[in-house]
Amino acid sequence: MSAKGNYLAMKKLIAGNWKMNGTVASATSLATDIVAQVGQRLDLLKTCDFAVFPPYLHIRLVQEALAKAGAGATISTGGQDCSATGNGAFTGEISAEMLKDIGCEYVILGHSERRQYHGETDEKVAIKAARANEKGLITIICVGEKESERDAGHELDVVASQLSRSLPAGFTALNTVIAYEPVWAIGTGKTATPDDVRIMHKFIRDNLTARLKDSVGTPRILYGGSVKPDNAKDLMAVENVNGALIGGASLKVADYLAIAAAS
Ligand code: PEP
Repeated sequence: MSAKGNYLAMKKLIAGNWKMNGTVASATSLATDIVAQVGQRLDLLKTCDFAVFPPYLHIRLVQEALAKAGAGATISTGGQDCSATGNGAFTGEISAEMLKDIGCEYVILGHSERRQYHGETDEKVAIKAARANEKGLITIICVGEKESERDAGHELDVVASQLSRSLPAGFTALNTVIAYEPVWAIGTGKTATPDDVRIMHKFIRDNLTARLKDSVGTPRILYGGSVKPDNAKDLMAVENVNGALIGGASLKVADYLAIAAAS
């Protein structure tokens, strides 16, 4: 049984969401640099798992670059989304089985940019997550409140509702990771304070523990939202923070590595 989805393994997951960025040349070079530099930091491999999420189009070439350059370092790959259906007449979609087939371990679901720009609902996320788990992928399910919801003091209610509706019935510590990403902190340079993060991650942990009472452990919980080298130490030190989902900073090898080193 893989320990990758299990926060009890106590390794932090350092997940880089490349979003819709990169060319063949830049994605190859970023992957090559990441694996070369992680490979020189065996200390980090003892404390962190690494995963990168390139655009679909670049996943294969990133995997090839990682395999070619990789000496001693394993960097997992994943999709930034997947279809709610299996293969078939669904133009423009990518299925969970396609991601699995090319060697992905993970898929991000319910990212706030998908919720905001593509009408992704909690219910759709749960359907996608069930399919992705069935096909052997570990899901990273994103939850988080908007600024107006936090200002109104509703952040815990919003996240509780997202957790209850976005997680599939069969989620476990091994097939699921939660990413708490306050929407107002994504790509804005604003971050939640360590105290905000402590309260929310404890709330999520308690919610997951209540739902998984008969099983061993609960999913890892990542923090995401403008994580940078200079704030990573404080954020990653917070109890119940089991890693980071990193957007902008994951496109710079030095920043991605510095966040891992601070974790
Ligand atoms: C993200 O894309 O999930 C994210 C957290 O982005 P950024 O780190 O750029 O805020």
